[in-house]
Amino acid sequence: MAWNVVIAGGGFGGAMAARELERIMPRQSARLVLVNDVNFLLYTPFLPEAAAGTLEPRHVVTPLREILKRAYLRLGAIEGHDPAAKTVELRTRDGETETLPYDQLLLALGSVSRVLPVPGLAEHAVGFKGLADAIWLRNHLVETLEAANAAEDPARRDELLTYVFVGGGYAGLEALAELQDFAADAIESYPRARLHGMRWVLVEASDRVLPEIDPQLAEYALRELRGRGIDIRLGTTLEEVCADSARISTGETLPTRTVVWTAGVAPNPKLRDLRVPLDERGRVPVDEQLRVEGMDAVWAIGDCAAVPNPRGGTSPPTAQHAVRQGPVAARNIAAELGVGSPRRFEYRGNAAFVNLGRYKAVGRVGGLTFRGFPAWWLARTYHMSQIP
Ligand SMILES: Cc1cc2nc3c(=O)[nH]c(=O)nc-3n(C[C@H](O)[C@H](O)[C@H](O)COP(=O)(O)OP(=O)(O)OC[C@H]3O[C@@H](n4cnc5c(N)ncnc54)[C@H](O)[C@@H]3O)c2cc1C
Repeated sequence: MAWNVVIAGGGFGGAMAARELERIMPRQSARLVLVNDVNFLLYTPFLPEAAAGTLEPRHVVTPLREILKRAYLRLGAIEGHDPAAKTVELRTRDGETETLPYDQLLLALGSVSRVLPVPGLAEHAVGFKGLADAIWLRNHLVETLEAANAAEDPARRDELLTYVFVGGGYAGLEALAELQDFAADAIESYPRARLHGMRWVLVEASDRVLPEIDPQLAEYALRELRGRGIDIRLGTTLEEVCADSARISTGETLPTRTVVWTAGVAPNPKLRDLRVPLDERGRVPVDEQLRVEGMDAVWAIGDCAAVPNPRGGTSPPTAQHAVRQGPVAARNIAAELGVGSPRRFEYRGNAAFVNLGRYKAVGRVGGLTFRGFPAWWLARTYHMSQIP
């Protein structure tokens, strides 16, 4: 009888795990089922480029059916889990509920934008996590230029031409850098708006940007963006958002109609319904083989898991880590089913790149640091080679 292996979530971690299982599990020995709520993998490192239009939206997604060779893709949402019966509950796209049995279950459900109780945030700010957000933001930016060009009142132009990003991680910083480049070109077609000038503000609660990478690289990125006139406020929080302004912790009220919220991620809240242990941040704690603590047939990877980092602490929520955890989890699941031997997750994160707009980036590979065009070229080449 074939084993049932269910992978919940088909993003970076889940899709890579499925591919590895397809490769190593003998045919007929296992039924591989990948459950995902959409039928494509979004290559998030290129989302800022999709927003800025330097890449077409269709070039930053890959259909999961093209990635998978023999795993069965089930479209729908994982809604529940019964560890004793070894089943998960799937809600299909047409609203029906199905029960899927498993012998081994891998949780790779990713994360959601972290939302804080800031008044007006839900009503007036936008997130930056999916393709729809990227396209919306680009269209909105063009609309603000149109409206500012037509506006007679300078105060209204101020609101329209001030763009506030909250959160200085990968997503916020790269999105801001790309969109500022795009807007700097686009504004040439709007003479009255150009004369008024734009204002770009990044608000970050901690005392540094880019916690995902080492401090020197982050410092370089900060200097580069400040050199482009971006107003970066460290140690500052967003206090309130209204339709035409944002109040920050310095007491200032910024006139703006664009607040982009990219202040970190939180593990998928659906995990709370899945009867698995969670740490204080809502992540599933796993051991160095990626097995969920206290469970013998459940594994977890990526943004939804607290994975021990060989450098200490837990792995950061990055695609780089998720794509490497996927194959390790796959190997360990296979080993559990009698194929091969188990291994540990030992990736130390030796490379990092941050795009700072068109032809500009900063990056580190091993002990070498790259800046400007060479870093951009390396980052683009690396990412292109990684898109499945
Ligand atoms: C704008 C942006 C830029 C980024 N840039 C970088 C970068 O340059 N480098 C880098 O390393 N990382 C980057 N990241 C982070 C990276 O995207 C994540 O760390 C990575 O996606 C985590 O992989 P994952 O497999 O854990 O989750 P995901 O890739 O998010 O996959 C989770 C999957 O589960 C699906 N899902 C969710 N809930 C359910 C459910 N109930 N049932 C079924 N399916 C479900 C989702 O649709 C998704 O397909 C960026 C993120 C963003 C938002």
